[in-house]
Amino acid sequence: MEDAIVIGIEEGGLYKFRGHSKAALTHDTSSPCELWHRRLAHINYKALPHVSKVVTSLPELKIDHEGICKGCAKGKNIKNHFPKSDSKIEGILELVHSDVCGPMPSTTLSGYVYYVTIIDDYSHKTWIYSLKTKDEVFEKFRVQSSCRNLVERKIKILGFDNGGEYTSRVCGIL
Ligand SMILES: [Zn+2]
Repeated sequence: MEDAIVIGIEEGGLYKFRGHSKAALTHDTSSPCELWHRRLAHINYKALPHVSKVVTSLPELKIDHEGICKGCAKGKNIKNHFPKSDSKIEGILELVHSDVCGPMPSTTLSGYVYYVTIIDDYSHKTWIYSLKTKDEVFEKFRVQSSCRNLVERKIKILGFDNGGEYTSRVCGIL
């Protein structure tokens, strides 16, 4: 309690400040420009003078902010790209990525709670199969296996996350 600025006393489900209510409600804002920039969803600073001309309830605003808004800087942060892969995939079904997702929070009317994705790296062709149990992954890969026979190619590499659903049965049909 030593660091507390104001102590509130609960009355009827609300906390009412005792004593320093004006001090508690006072908040230091750096400038009206900064304040309205934040209030208007981090609008461009250059637009503020124009907005204040067309919106009657806004004060006259000038561009007088300093530095960079932390919120805007964080919002414009981007993730680093993944490094380019050196692998040379030259045809369909050479590299296939797969993952099983679930169980989903609700079961479908048909009783499915999982789904498996199978993505061909070369063509980006994606298959998604609904599953009632994880062990149905084998059956879906068997279907894929028959597909690859149509194009006379074999899956050379299967990328997965070492989940238990990718048993030796699945790997055996590749
Ligand atoms: Zn901002």
